[in-house]
Amino acid sequence: MDIAVIGSNMVDLISYIDEMPKEGETLEAPSFEIGCGGKGANQAVAAAKMGSKVMMLTKVGDDLFADNTIRNLESYGIDTEFTNKIPGASSGVAPIFVDPQSRNRILIIKGANQYLLPEDIDQAADKLKKCSLIILQLEIPLQAIYRAIDFGNEHNIPVVLNPAPASRELDFDYVCKCDFFIPNETELEILTDMPVETDQQVRDAALTLIEKGVKNVIVTLGSRGVMWVTNERVDMISAHRVAAIDTTGAGDSFIGCFAHFYVQTGDIFHSIRMATGFAALSVTKRGTQSSYPDKSELESFMA
Ligand code: ADP
Repeated sequence: MDIAVIGSNMVDLISYIDEMPKEGETLEAPSFEIGCGGKGANQAVAAAKMGSKVMMLTKVGDDLFADNTIRNLESYGIDTEFTNKIPGASSGVAPIFVDPQSRNRILIIKGANQYLLPEDIDQAADKLKKCSLIILQLEIPLQAIYRAIDFGNEHNIPVVLNPAPASRELDFDYVCKCDFFIPNETELEILTDMPVETDQQVRDAALTLIEKGVKNVIVTLGSRGVMWVTNERVDMISAHRVAAIDTTGAGDSFIGCFAHFYVQTGDIFHSIRMATGFAALSVTKRGTQSSYPDKSELESFMA
């Protein structure tokens, strides 16, 4: 195993609507789509599409979405031995309403994702020990995240923490135990309570985390690119100029691809460069996982 993703999966239930119904009103809408998502699953799919051997520790519900989610992960070659069903729980779902101007309204029901517990990390220990990298986000209980960080530290496995969605409850002692902390600009702003409008401000906010002991802060800045900050250097890696159509899941694509190249090469700068290419390609197509390029598309884009 190359990479363990310990995190969420969600089913996106996307209604394309002409207008939102008012209270008590029933309206017809033009179309509907089901998509597989969740930050953990998206990141796992991105790494697997690049060729990494990925295992996914996640929880699905006791409903008709569960088998679909497992089948989807397996279709990318992801190991689902520790993708378990929670009796009586719903799967994580995200009803999404998109209007003709592409504005969206999203509800998140975490469902089974709330039942990923510290014990689950211990139960998967034999397999997790064989992984070269652990990836975490914040759509599962914090106690499980802390256990996974300790597990990585105990077994010398580097840990990537993507603090999304942002939570002020995140314990900074644990953040400091991670090798890579990868927020987007909004998450960095919320976590540090500092402005992030200019590159200088992003750098100052990231440096406060470095001062607290974080080794690598990699801030994704949408079409501005990525800033990599350590206690020795600050690097700005520009985004590729592309015609962006749908940026949903861009951050997840970046993290999965970064993880793949970091495990393969150990070269952080190279891994960030490849991941900015991967994320740029992903925003040129509609959808989340379905917008992620494959290895050959990325290679020709970066050539
Ligand atoms: P999130 O999805 O978490 O908000 P970002 O918007 O920061 O994450 O996007 C992650 C990465 O995807 C960026 O650092 C950048 O490399 C790439 N990206 C995002 N939007 C664009 C864009 N419009 N053009 C090119 N690359 C983009």
